[in-house]
Amino acid sequence: MNVLIVYAHPEPQSFNGALKDLAVSELTTLGHQVKVSDLYAMNFKAVADCDDFVRLQNEDFLKYAVEQKHAVKTNGFSKDIQEEQEKLLWADFVIFQFPLWWYSVPAILKGWFDRVFAPGFIYSRDMRYDTGGLKGRKAMLTTTTGSPKHAYTPYGMDGDIYEKILYHINHGMLYFSGMESVEPFIAWTPSHDENDRKRYLEEYKERLYHLSEVPSIPYHPTSHYDEDHQLKMEYRKEK
Ligand SMILES: Cc1cc2nc3c(=O)[nH]c(=O)nc-3n(C[C@H](O)[C@H](O)[C@H](O)COP(=O)(O)OP(=O)(O)OC[C@H]3O[C@@H](n4cnc5c(N)ncnc54)[C@H](O)[C@@H]3O)c2cc1C
Repeated sequence: MNVLIVYAHPEPQSFNGALKDLAVSELTTLGHQVKVSDLYAMNFKAVADCDDFVRLQNEDFLKYAVEQKHAVKTNGFSKDIQEEQEKLLWADFVIFQFPLWWYSVPAILKGWFDRVFAPGFIYSRDMRYDTGGLKGRKAMLTTTTGSPKHAYTPYGMDGDIYEKILYHINHGMLYFSGMESVEPFIAWTPSHDENDRKRYLEEYKERLYHLSEVPSIPYHPTSHYDEDHQLKMEYRKEK
């Protein structure tokens, strides 16, 4: 497979750095082609603004999504965005590697989504979720936390990490783009214990070995929703 790792951590010696390095070496050894977008090392621009376009359709009023659609049609993105979009088209599988910051991705990675996941390229009115522009690809979150695992359970203080915390990324960004989101890999509180860190690295190695078999998160296809974007009765758990 062609595997793209989009990696967002400011410190190469961090545990995230170790997980990213492990993924590169293991996947390469397994015969996969690997590319890494190391966002901090690239000094990737996180803010979406008019400099993201070679030429503007409307010089007087920046409507970012309109300029994105125009850039898709005219090949008019700045070089850094264009390169990331090409990497996405190259990839069969995308790993997003980051520490959980404020229940989400670090700003540099959020900016990557804002700028790279452009309408016309990733989505349109008729092209989203199971018909999104990146259909046919899989994506996995590999993340680390500060809070312990039990704080992220359904009744835990931080809330259910699978159903609530990571939903906006797995469903709102990855599945929305057409990619099949698979179960995330989470290393809980890696700062605390050397033995835990060793175990996480072993578990991650195992996960990478079976990457193509990681179960997908069972989100509904668009056909399960009615014209008001409501889940049809027959697909609801409580009928
Ligand atoms: C702005 C911000 C917001 C945050 N928000 C949240 C939040 O909402 N929820 C939450 O739970 N947490 C939050 N945190 C905490 C954060 O998620 C954790 O600090 C982070 O996930 C830890 O991962 P790391 O890679 O940065 O760990 P590090 O602290 O970089 O690494 C942990 C240890 O691993 C060691 N290590 C590195 N490589 C190896 C190796 N190969 N083998 C063994 N050990 C190694 C390092 O030396 C270090 O001692 C936040 C932190 C910040 C800064």
